[in-house]
Amino acid sequence: MAFKASRDIQIHLVTDGANTKGWIHTHGLEKFGVPDLEIREIPLFLGPYACLLLNEFAEYLVDNFERKPVIPGQTIQMGPCVFTVEECPILPEDEGDGHYTVRRFRLVDSAKMIGRCHAHQKSARTTH
Ligand SMILES: [Zn+2]
Repeated sequence: MAFKASRDIQIHLVTDGANTKGWIHTHGLEKFGVPDLEIREIPLFLGPYACLLLNEFAEYLVDNFERKPVIPGQTIQMGPCVFTVEECPILPEDEGDGHYTVRRFRLVDSAKMIGRCHAHQKSARTTH
């Protein structure tokens, strides 16, 4: 049976409560030979979209990692989302909570996207 992220892995969204941002991450990708994934500091209302993105990227990794591995530092585009993949640092405060026992990639803002916003550029054009 082909890998299907929504069935084969778990995704957790962790928050410290109201007015905090979310930490969304996968569990179970190591069974498929690829690193687990995480995104930090997402607004909670974007959690469902972050979950869809992690599912989509997880499926891409499982399907392609052997012949075309993703390398930390690489910029990836999945649909409208562009992000850079980082090797997850293991911070002392995170050790022992069970989340960093396997390799993990973090999806972060891509430097290529900073300062690039089509909606803003469009409205800027109409107001000038
Ligand atoms: Zn977890």
